Amino acid sequence: DSETDAILSVQDLRKSFGGITAVDGVSFEIEPGSITGLIGPNGAGKSTTFNLISGAYTPDSGTIVFDGTDITGYRPDRVATRGLVRSFQIARELPEMSVLENVMLAPQHQLGETLYRSVLPGFRSGVETQERELRERAWETLEFFEIDHLATENAGNLSGGQRKLLEMARVLMTDPEMILLDEPLAGVNPTLEQKLIERLHELKADGYTFLFVEHDMDIVMNNCDPIIVMHQGQKLAEGAPETIKEDDRVLEAYLGG
Ligand code: ADP
Ligand code: MG
Repeated sequence: DSETDAILSVQDLRKSFGGITAVDGVSFEIEPGSITGLIGPNGAGKSTTFNLISGAYTPDSGTIVFDGTDITGYRPDRVATRGLVRSFQIARELPEMSVLENVMLAPQHQLGETLYRSVLPGFRSGVETQERELRERAWETLEFFEIDHLATENAGNLSGGQRKLLEMARVLMTDPEMILLDEPLAGVNPTLEQKLIERLHELKADGYTFLFVEHDMDIVMNNCDPIIVMHQGQKLAEGAPETIKEDDRVLEAYLGG
């Protein structure tokens, strides 16, 4: 049943800032291998929910269980080490370094030097082997996102869309199980957007799980299943795209602002 199968389970999550309750008792479960959409009007609490799940914020109450472990209150690097990675955390690529270097350094940056060394396979076999394996994996990842031709380019010279592909490549280098995407297509041209979406579906087929915040309704309806709708800090609706599309409460929430 869905409760035992969930890779991520959020129960009665709450977070207030002063007088504002940004997340007001939200519960949901994420199926492994899904691309789950998280939508809702501005101020609904989507980013706060992401911040709570990724460990950037500590919830006032509620629990977050990932892959069978209660990660409530874990710091972001510890959440990432568990395999739950938020793309935006490593969006700050190093502009003066090459694309290849940025991809090679991602696990270290994300997980922290010490943890990185202990999780990297083959570490004990020596620094040279470690470096070679890392380099090979970096190249494969660049090829997967079709940015290998940019390997020697400074990351700072990439277009907005290419930077998003680099960001995804860096996320994958940390070997995640589940990826939190907060508007990953913002500023991406249609060609690259299509490429990124295709890669998401390939990664989904490989067993990766995504929780995806995106404001473009067509993209969400065509690529996410199920969809969770938030409104005023609460979960308003949840279900397949066809169901969400026809839910009057969802329409009202968007019209009401
Ligand atoms: P969304 O991502 O759905 O647009 P947010 O989670 O960013 O919504 O915001 C939900 C509510 O919480 C908003 O009213 C917002 O102003 C408030 N909020 C979010 N983060 C903070 C913060 N760090 N300090 C104060 N208020 C915040
Ligand atoms: Mg937001």
